[in-house]
Amino acid sequence: MDFVNRFEDALNKGYIKTYFQPLTRTITGKVCGAEALARWEDPQRGLIPPGEFIGLLEKYRLIHKLDLAMLENVCRFYRENDCKDMTFSINLSRIDFIEADMLQEITKILSKYDVPVNTINLEITESTMLINRDNTLRLFKQLKDAGFSVWLDDFGSGYSSLNVLKDYRFDVMKIDMSLLQQFDECSRKIISSIINMAKALGIHTLSEGVETKEQLTYLRSIGCEIVQGYYFSKPLCEADFLGYLAQHPSESASERDFWNDAGKVNFLSGDPLMSSGDSANSNEMLNTAPLALIEYNNGVITYPYVNAAYIKEISKIGYNSAKQIEHDVNDEQYAYRDQFMRQIKTTIHRSGVQRSDNIMNGVVYAFSTKLLASAGERHLIATTVHVIESERSDYLILKYSQSLYATYDLVTEISPDKDNAMQIYSNAGFSKVYGKVSLRKGITEFADNEVHPDDRDRYLTFFDLATLKERVVQFIQEPFMVRIGDDYALKNIRISKLENGKYLYTIQSY
Ligand code: C2E
Ligand code: CA
Ligand code: CA
Repeated sequence: MDFVNRFEDALNKGYIKTYFQPLTRTITGKVCGAEALARWEDPQRGLIPPGEFIGLLEKYRLIHKLDLAMLENVCRFYRENDCKDMTFSINLSRIDFIEADMLQEITKILSKYDVPVNTINLEITESTMLINRDNTLRLFKQLKDAGFSVWLDDFGSGYSSLNVLKDYRFDVMKIDMSLLQQFDECSRKIISSIINMAKALGIHTLSEGVETKEQLTYLRSIGCEIVQGYYFSKPLCEADFLGYLAQHPSESASERDFWNDAGKVNFLSGDPLMSSGDSANSNEMLNTAPLALIEYNNGVITYPYVNAAYIKEISKIGYNSAKQIEHDVNDEQYAYRDQFMRQIKTTIHRSGVQRSDNIMNGVVYAFSTKLLASAGERHLIATTVHVIESERSDYLILKYSQSLYATYDLVTEISPDKDNAMQIYSNAGFSKVYGKVSLRKGITEFADNEVHPDDRDRYLTFFDLATLKERVVQFIQEPFMVRIGDDYALKNIRISKLENGKYLYTIQSY
């Protein structure tokens, strides 16, 4: 039998198999799709890799039969198994664009198996775009209009023409594995530049041929969204792929939409909160801008992504990790929780960047946030932090307003309704910081540890929360013996009424 007959025979007998290689989203580590790759399992010759027959099929104008057979296999697999939110990438040859009416053939198969169009990604290489331009452009537009996600395969391999990016609106750019192979300083710069460019154009990025943890870590840090390679898995036969899916969580359709929006953030630009379209000043190729992603899910804050520059910046205001911030802001009693949540909520309800200037541990910093995506009660927010070292007068006022409190040993804002206390200022070195405890607990602890035993009962009566509202019209004030070092001193303690059910609790120095 000659090659053509052998191939037709193999197709009919089902010797052409579809192998699946998982695609993984860097930010969540979840499986977000799979690439379908052809394998010819010949009973006599054994496994024939695609490199040995793709070229011949193109030469004999038979490649569309293979590609459609792969699509049909994928659709059947999709129907037979529970993977309704999975996406599958099919390789299309450049010859497919000159041969049969591919769009019609593809849609026929999808409707036969009732597979939604957004389940299928179509991978095409640059070389496709360079032949028969008019025809290719027309089919490309038809495929996009029909709702397919169209991916640019092997970017950066052979003949890269940047014109292709100008003329075709690809959804995903697959960066060729040849660029990862060396993984030296130079290739890292090229990869980060490609990713930066793709983001500026609003194209999602995927790196192929990821084989090491080091490569993965780097790709994640520069904002490459999806990865594929032996580090995760080789292409797997159907049964093995199902086994893989059973062991590795895969993302839901709503998660996919959610994280696709996150991909818009330019991790490399000088100002990552600028939208992809207008990052004209993003020629700063260094990964220096502080950036984190905040997920707000039904009132709970998590940080799914934080870069090194962000960690460095928050260390200046006293935080060592995003986990620490997560822990604090999710704690009802945390002094700055209200302020933080207020900004998050404003960010969710208003478009554009929200910025606030804050002070913590004597350091003034700007906290900027911008909504990236929402899905029900789940919101994704990009954030930067900048410590302000400026000599601008408004920052200085904020900074030195602390000295205004010098006439007090302690200034604390209290909210009896919420049972929390936010310590604004303390210079007395009380044995404990009362800024992070429940108000009720704080009052008794303070009475036990800091107030003279003779004054303790009077102090508790003075602070009786049940009657506070009716007793405080403007303020109430009484002197108490309060512990200063290992001695006691008489101090005026005052509770003044603020707005919104809040009060200011002050201990005067003199
Ligand atoms: P491709 O589309 O670039 O597919 C990726 C190739 O890289 C696959 O080789 C895959 O096995 C391999 N690969 C994946 N991860 C790694 C890794 O970490 N390290 C290394 N060294 N290699 C990795 P495969 O399956 O041999 O396919 C070779 C090429 O054949 C494909 O390149 C694609 O251009 C073509 N091809 C495969 N199946 C089809 C098909 O159904 N239709 C068409 N038109 N072409 C196909
Ligand atoms: Ca491919
Ligand atoms: Ca490829």
